[in-house]
Amino acid sequence: MMLGLLLARAGIKTAVIEKHGDFLRDFRGDTVHPSTLQILDELGLKSRFDQLPQQRVSQLEVMLAHGPCAVADFRKLKPFPYLALVPQWDLLALLAQESARYPWYSLHMQSEAIRLLHDETSGRVCGVHAQTPNGRLHIRADLVVGCDGRQSVLRHAAGMHPQNLGAPMDVLWFKVPRATWHPKGTYGVPGRGSFLVLLNRGNYWQAAIVIPKGAAERWQAQPLQLFRDSITRRAPFLNNELVSLKSWDEVKLLEVRVDRLQHWHQPGLLFIGDAAHAMSPIGGVGINLAIQDAVAAANIIAAPLLAGLQPDESTLARVQRRRMMPTRLTQHIQTTLQRRLIAPALQMNDSDRPIEIPALLKLLLRSDTVRSIPARIFGLGFRREHVRSPECKMP
Ligand SMILES: Cc1cc2nc3c(=O)[nH]c(=O)nc-3n(C[C@H](O)[C@H](O)[C@H](O)COP(=O)(O)OP(=O)(O)OC[C@H]3O[C@@H](n4cnc5c(N)ncnc54)[C@H](O)[C@@H]3O)c2cc1C
Repeated sequence: MMLGLLLARAGIKTAVIEKHGDFLRDFRGDTVHPSTLQILDELGLKSRFDQLPQQRVSQLEVMLAHGPCAVADFRKLKPFPYLALVPQWDLLALLAQESARYPWYSLHMQSEAIRLLHDETSGRVCGVHAQTPNGRLHIRADLVVGCDGRQSVLRHAAGMHPQNLGAPMDVLWFKVPRATWHPKGTYGVPGRGSFLVLLNRGNYWQAAIVIPKGAAERWQAQPLQLFRDSITRRAPFLNNELVSLKSWDEVKLLEVRVDRLQHWHQPGLLFIGDAAHAMSPIGGVGINLAIQDAVAAANIIAAPLLAGLQPDESTLARVQRRRMMPTRLTQHIQTTLQRRLIAPALQMNDSDRPIEIPALLKLLLRSDTVRSIPARIFGLGFRREHVRSPECKMP
């Protein structure tokens, strides 16, 4: 959606196809980091974004045996010293609304890409076939960009397979009403065997239990009351509100994947976002990296497309080169944390007792500067993108 907007804004005829009829999917990338806020600002969309329902988080805390301890502090980041928790569908609707201003932009909902079209002589990708409720849609294009997520159909159709970097955990997401007297922060509650995460979404908690990979079936086989009890032991203030959780159907599984394509492109075809690299949920960076990819891609491909040229392989390779370093570094940090902290803790016998962190780490975390490091790494990323693609004059 971001790339569609940027290309249309540059004056390029752009078609976005989306297989669903709406954007209403719960528990997606809702963590809008300062890097994305900056891009929205550069696009003149920040004041409209600010009107979307949201919570602003300036610190991330862990709840330890002795009380909460801040581990990431966004307050020193300029000009946006917070991360915003915004329903992804609201952000997508804002991008769709802005894109619709351009008469050469089209958004085809309920249109599922099923196949790539190839030029018969050169073999170059030259479009997609999509299935719609009204039959087949054939779209020919100078460039097809696969932004179809971690299960990318286009990636499969192109015979490309990401390298799996491994993840020791899966996540069970659910919602719990938030009472006015509940704590106000956004927390991780580390434990042995599993962890609880509580994102403050105003009148509810977006809650997650991080469990060992593949353990979801075992967890969901237990009576729901045992699950509720184990949450209450980790966060006693949720006791009354957890009765609202009535069925396992309200608990959604996210199978965590961390993977990366070695080559993000073929002639006529480019992959960005989760289709090129699925991220671990650590740091909530998935949506932000996808948006940075879109900005970098538009900065590089807008000029040839505007000149009526099909971006060649070296142009597509520039997009990959630009975004590979931040993707690799972020995934490296995520997989190191997974291996060193998360996997050992998940392998311990399940226990709801809160855990402690080493005294030295606790001492270090008293420093504002130390706490601003994770905020900087995840909030700003390793290579910040700025909108450089042109803005055309409206007719
Ligand atoms: C349950 C869950 C929770 C997450 N939580 C967070 C979080 O808190 N913070 C964070 O930053 N990230 C989170 N992520 C990751 C984040 O949502 C993704 O990294 C981000 O949305 C990637 O954007 P994308 O555009 O590359 O892919 P997606 O957001 O996956 O978008 C792909 C789109 O393509 C559509 N599509 C798929 N196949 C086709 C097809 N064949 N034809 C047409 N359309 C198709 C899909 O319907 C979808 O709308 C979460 C992901 C999941 C699954």
